[in-house]
Amino acid sequence: MTQNITTHNLGFPRIGGDRELKKAQEAYWRGEIDQAQLEHIGRELRNIHWQLQADAGLDLIPTGDFAWYDQVLTLSATIGNIPARHRKTAKPGHTHAHDDDQHCCAHLSHDVNEFNPAPCRDIDLDTLFRVARGRAPTGNATTASDMTKWFDTNYHYLVPEFHQSQQFQLSWTQIIDETAEAIALGYKVKPVILGPLSYLFLGKEKGAAFDRFDLLDNLLPAYQQLLTALSQSGATWVQVDEPILVLDLPEKWQRAFESVYNRLQHHKLKVLLATYFGALGENLSTAVNLPVAGLHIDVVRAPEQLLAVVDRLPAHKILSVGVVDGRNIWRNDLAKSLNLLKQARERLGDRLWVAPSCSLLHSPVNLEREEKLPQDIKSWLAFAKQKVQEVVTLKTLLTRPFDAIAQEFLAASVAAAHARLNSPKIHNPEVQARLKAIKPEHTQRSSVFAERIAKQQAILQLPAFPTTTIGSFPQTEHIRQTRSEFKQGKINSVEYENRIRQEIADCIAKQEQLDIDVLVHGEAERNDMVEYFGEQLNGYVFTQFGWVQSYGSRCVKPPIIFGDVSRPAPITVSWARYAQSLSKKPVKGMLTGPITMLFWSFVRDDQPRATTALQLALALRDEVVDLESAGIRVIQIDEPAIREGLPLREKDRKEYLDWAVKAFRISASGVQDETQIHTHMCYSEFNDIIKAIADMDADVITIETSRSDGELLQAFEQFNYPNDIGPGVYDIHSPNIPDIQAMVNLLKRAAREIPVERLWVNPDCGLKTRRWPETEAALARMVEAAKILRVEYNTGASAKTNKTAELA
Ligand code: GLN
Ligand code: ZN
Repeated sequence: MTQNITTHNLGFPRIGGDRELKKAQEAYWRGEIDQAQLEHIGRELRNIHWQLQADAGLDLIPTGDFAWYDQVLTLSATIGNIPARHRKTAKPGHTHAHDDDQHCCAHLSHDVNEFNPAPCRDIDLDTLFRVARGRAPTGNATTASDMTKWFDTNYHYLVPEFHQSQQFQLSWTQIIDETAEAIALGYKVKPVILGPLSYLFLGKEKGAAFDRFDLLDNLLPAYQQLLTALSQSGATWVQVDEPILVLDLPEKWQRAFESVYNRLQHHKLKVLLATYFGALGENLSTAVNLPVAGLHIDVVRAPEQLLAVVDRLPAHKILSVGVVDGRNIWRNDLAKSLNLLKQARERLGDRLWVAPSCSLLHSPVNLEREEKLPQDIKSWLAFAKQKVQEVVTLKTLLTRPFDAIAQEFLAASVAAAHARLNSPKIHNPEVQARLKAIKPEHTQRSSVFAERIAKQQAILQLPAFPTTTIGSFPQTEHIRQTRSEFKQGKINSVEYENRIRQEIADCIAKQEQLDIDVLVHGEAERNDMVEYFGEQLNGYVFTQFGWVQSYGSRCVKPPIIFGDVSRPAPITVSWARYAQSLSKKPVKGMLTGPITMLFWSFVRDDQPRATTALQLALALRDEVVDLESAGIRVIQIDEPAIREGLPLREKDRKEYLDWAVKAFRISASGVQDETQIHTHMCYSEFNDIIKAIADMDADVITIETSRSDGELLQAFEQFNYPNDIGPGVYDIHSPNIPDIQAMVNLLKRAAREIPVERLWVNPDCGLKTRRWPETEAALARMVEAAKILRVEYNTGASAKTNKTAELA
């Protein structure tokens, strides 16, 4: 057969196998390296990643997947959508998202076919960092932009801010320059950009009320400028991502696709419209009929859509089939993929392209480096580098079926799939039996909230507006060193224990001094909230270098759930008991909840996620009960990931929320009424699941509110949240010290909807990424704010007690 097939990739992880980018960013922020050095490291990384993909034999290599912080932020800069407060010329005091936004770069040509690459004087690298972090080595500190999770992943993007009558102009040439850079190095590339409808859809209006949809006319010329510039840089294809096509789109947005892509047609550049993370569903007909040269679909998440799309695809278009999972670490079952692709190929011939399902941004870099994984388990896995090889092998198997190396790959893949399915390591009959024995009474507390809170308050004696933190305190160099020396065997367990105890003691003392009401032990023993628990559960394995970017320079190393989960021994109890022994105030026990354990791990794909979630819930339930027995009166079960697991489509949500809520309740319901269960959530859109959050029936929820500009509070206007709640009063991403009045005001806003006796005072999230001086300063002000509120609401120190005592 002479037919060819094109292989490509939608994006490669930018952080580097050793998190080189993270290290460079942070060194730059600390002033240890300069901008030129940072740029040099970025250039090297890009080249390494391009080379790796070219060496594997990939036909088209992505550019535009590199970002100094986030690819959505890069796009915002590219089209000149940078808030005034973050620009180089921003004046001090110009700090609010609501400030009127004026744009520069009027010097750029308005003729969309003529790109004048004069750099925008008002945007530079530090501008990007100010948007993302509120500060950079140059410029004034100000409020960062909002950050939120990218679809149902644990990657966070910077939410574009839109103002009424906003103008867009090509203003930052990074994507263009990097494309030219790759081409100059001899790579065949395809730049990747987020499409205009997804870009608008994923942003937020600021300032005067208006509909960001109405900005389309202003936005498209900037996209046209960008396409022209990309074409001039030497690209022939551009991948335009429109992942919102897998969502339930408002009709107006769905209908806009046709006209937008008609207007975006470019005489030189061919557009591959990319969708991922789900099925096109009712957007299928829109997607296949757009005036573009090709379409990419995700057949890992939605294999059933392949033939439907093939059937409907106009004859001149190519179809890119995303068959290698970009979101998980399991080795591709090449035989299965081959079958799927063969069906497509019969119909498409050389119009078939093969690719990962989505950008490999969500996948660790290179499995080869893992030396500590059990051999059998390692043979079940594939990371980004291996996934690129899988894509290329699939092409070889289609076009040269007798190629010896490809056949060898195929045989190894089949053997691995067989070995995994039959491995005794995966199945634990005891766990499975316990799962079957779950009864309704395991999913609820003995009494209703009103009764529980009264009993709890009788013991805890908290003041009104009780203050607390989310769990972690600054992870100092000393703490990290202690953990790493212990891991490397440089200190023994006695020494390790002593040092961690000292950290706990310091942390408790500082909180006592700050006059916080409900204390935490500080989580010094934890490298990461999921890894720490996973390491002590059966059914988990860990990688050494399996890092995935979460946001900016922050990376996580998700553990791998490969088998049935159980808890061989208590995990946190001795630390919690020690911490509580140091104070008369309650110290919270601190656990990561089942849903977060699930979503921040790489999960099994051989059983429903709900099953794995319930296994985790049972393991954590044992820990909760053990904490209670050890005298811990308040136990927090963090569930920051609950929202990101929400299916993208409305029709799938109820089922998910049912099992997610059930899993949480199983973990929380083994205790007496007197034990106060907290949960914590952050950095997600909670308004649409507030009812399910209430159904979790935690006694107290602490929830991020400040970073997203108090938006959460709107949810309470429509919905009466029934239990205690602590809306986060300050953003912990920024080292800036929060303003007392701002915190007071936020709680006053909350008090309009929620009875004051049910309000708590806490930061948005944990403090591990902060340093001690700013942490103490911030918390001192937070406690001050709570005290002001107690006076203003005339609650007195014991009002919470009185009010709740009435209920009892
Ligand atoms: N208890 C954790 C901490 O304070 C919660 C972190 C999170 O919500 N991501 O760090
Ligand atoms: Zn949090």
